[in-house]
Amino acid sequence: MIISIRTQASSEERGQLMALLCRITGSQRPFTPTYIDGHEVIALDGNQCDEQARLLLTQQRAVERLTPIKTPYKLVSRAFLSDDSRMVVGDALGGTAVTISQAAPVIMAGPCAVENRAQLLETAQAVKAAGAQVLRGGAYKPRTSPYQFQGLGIEGLRLLAEARELTGLPIITEVMEPELVGTVAQYADILQIGSRNMQNFPLLLAAGRDAARRPVMLKRGLAATIDEWLLAAEYIVAAGNPHVILCERGIRSFDPQTRNVLDLACVPLLHELTYLPVIVDPSHATGRRELVPAMSRSAIAAGAEGLILEVHPDPNSALCDGRQSITAEQLAKIVYDTRLLAQMMAGDKKLSYVA
Ligand code: PEP
Ligand code: MN
Repeated sequence: MIISIRTQASSEERGQLMALLCRITGSQRPFTPTYIDGHEVIALDGNQCDEQARLLLTQQRAVERLTPIKTPYKLVSRAFLSDDSRMVVGDALGGTAVTISQAAPVIMAGPCAVENRAQLLETAQAVKAAGAQVLRGGAYKPRTSPYQFQGLGIEGLRLLAEARELTGLPIITEVMEPELVGTVAQYADILQIGSRNMQNFPLLLAAGRDAARRPVMLKRGLAATIDEWLLAAEYIVAAGNPHVILCERGIRSFDPQTRNVLDLACVPLLHELTYLPVIVDPSHATGRRELVPAMSRSAIAAGAEGLILEVHPDPNSALCDGRQSITAEQLAKIVYDTRLLAQMMAGDKKLSYVA
């Protein structure tokens, strides 16, 4: 159930509501409402709230209305908000604003890892020239082996900020620890929570509570179900940050031919279940650069709001994920194809897109 709070509710009325919520749920912690689409809301699980509790809630002066939601996730549910989200990202730190919506796919691209200044700045300029709108690059890298390149850390963040200054491209980069959310948010326009951390609950809460409320791109866990993924998104939203983007990056399966299996059916399915935008990552999903263009087109055809792609000036010498990294020339072709495709899908018969 979702409780919508009246805009004009006094602080006393709010205080009464919060006290009642603590009594109903047995919680010691005060509830933090989230602002979604101009409404201040709090969600409760059905089994936290019997008929009598519901009656008490409806009698509260601070309560505007109660919306019953059957799914385990509430605030991210399509049953709560029927409109697709239209998220403007990237202009808080001097970058060029980008709108994430179904109208035109957003292309995020850049190296798996920030390796050094020359590599990043060269890639950033090439990514911009290719027509992508957001620069990706890992400063903190979750590597399977402790002996692999772990990223440049804070120095990587500084280089990303320099690349934004140079190109105007907003930055997306991964944060792995709750304690670093504030620091990464000082540099990044979008926080990435990686696959391996999809259910790192302290990290989800920290990204939800951070004062900067940076948009968070939540990648699907290696073997996460859709419900687990949406509940992870719910953690961030319930903690106070409604700006969540989902990213399908492939799930584990039995065949080592591809790194993962790209679950494209999840794109239209998620659009039924939630209003959150869905970005597809064909690089990590396939692990093979020759498959990336076809899977990029397929993702857009499936209705994704955008792509995130790994690009490197010399993929074969990349310190991380070179096998799945494409060149800037390949990126330019993908940008062209996907924009044309999106235009066609929007019903524009003229197909006038020119790079
Ligand atoms: C990445 O984006 O570089 C990354 C590590 O992705 P994932 O969490 O999907 O493996
Ligand atoms: Mn990578």
